[in-house]
Amino acid sequence: MFDKEEFVKKSRENGIVGAGGAGFPFYVKVSSQAHTVLVNAAECEPLLRKDQVILSLYPQKVIEGLKLAMKSCGASEGIIGIKKKHEKIISRLKEICKSEKGISVLEMGDYYPAGDEFCLVYEATGKVIAPGAIPLSVGCVVSNVETLYNAAISRPVTEKFVTIAGEVKNPATMKIPIGVSWKELAEVCGGFKVKNPVAIDGGPMMGKVITDFSQPVVKTSAGIIVLDASHPLIKRKTRGKTQFMSINRSACDQCSFCTEFCPRYLLGHNVQPHRVMRSSMFSSDKTKIHNEYSLLCCECSLCSLYSCPEGLSPREACLSGKADLKEKGVNVKNSQTAAASKSQVHPLREYRKTPVKKLIKKLGLYELDKPADFIDLSYNPQKVKIMLTQHAGTPASACVKIGQKVKKGDIVGTVEEGKLGCPVHASIDGKISDVNLKFVEIEGSNA
Ligand code: SF4
Ligand code: SF4
Repeated sequence: MFDKEEFVKKSRENGIVGAGGAGFPFYVKVSSQAHTVLVNAAECEPLLRKDQVILSLYPQKVIEGLKLAMKSCGASEGIIGIKKKHEKIISRLKEICKSEKGISVLEMGDYYPAGDEFCLVYEATGKVIAPGAIPLSVGCVVSNVETLYNAAISRPVTEKFVTIAGEVKNPATMKIPIGVSWKELAEVCGGFKVKNPVAIDGGPMMGKVITDFSQPVVKTSAGIIVLDASHPLIKRKTRGKTQFMSINRSACDQCSFCTEFCPRYLLGHNVQPHRVMRSSMFSSDKTKIHNEYSLLCCECSLCSLYSCPEGLSPREACLSGKADLKEKGVNVKNSQTAAASKSQVHPLREYRKTPVKKLIKKLGLYELDKPADFIDLSYNPQKVKIMLTQHAGTPASACVKIGQKVKKGDIVGTVEEGKLGCPVHASIDGKISDVNLKFVEIEGSNA
């Protein structure tokens, strides 16, 4: 007999959080009531492969996790949203689903951002989540493939699937202990192929540029794309505020392509980056943007990295605009502009989806769009750094001391009961070698 209270408790104790990037604690999602649980298997960030790998290797586990989430939420329907190009995985999933009541596969086109929760919910249910609301407002809970896999294996989250792509000798996807550095993983992949390697952590569209490869893998990591520092995408993503504001002000011709292709605008949300760009031209101090058409931007980067024919930065203008409005106390909840969103999807939405193949070309990643097959490593690191902030909510506080021995799966950081967050666990056996407000470091037993 399924015990919801126990499942929710265990999900918190095991430190299960959204593994797709957001890190929202899973126990909160499964403590709610919903009619549909959606598996987000769209994996639309170019070059990342970890969700495809998990579904190829452990389809049964992901479906088990989905069934648990459905039971916990009282949901009668489970939908796995995956791109139709993954034919083999889909045929396996469909085979398994034949004997599962209420679970189906939604085959989606290969466009970006199919994995955006708002887009996925619309594709799967035909319902539009209102601006500023969450999937639960339309009766849905959305969960990443790896999150559900973690729910099914029901033990502390100590390992992570990640893809190392781009300019490494042998791009690959692997399962490794949380807290391992990206540098070690790049070495596992044969090392860098470029002179000045930098990486995008989390995918070319929404990921952040990192130059320090000693940074550790966390529960929300999906992988890195290694590029040379001179790659146009890196230059584009590291453009500073003074630079993008001045280029934006001088070159925007108000063609409005940024708005016309914006996935949230196409869902009827009142986000209009071209108007935000117009405001930046009027800003007398050249740094502040006060324009409420920025508020509903989900930061998908499509406008800056794909839609704008001039290569300008409407996304960054929206981000600045949101921050400037926050200072004035204006937000999605009290904005009349946000409230004026239509409840109607744009009639041309279907024809304005961005094909991932075209996006990859535009990003200058065509040559690097290669397979990153799974390698079974059983990787034994000498040291791991367990970050105390690996989830949305309150960061964990270390509960171990230097010199203390720990076993894989032991709790090394806790979040007070009643606060949003989860504990973090040791990912290897070893001895605590450093503790501070940011991380707990463990030296492996075989170091
Ligand atoms: S930012 Fe680019 S796409 Fe948007 S209106 Fe200006 S020129 Fe057009
Ligand atoms: S980043 Fe651009 S395209 Fe994406 S939601 Fe924001 S305004 Fe729209």
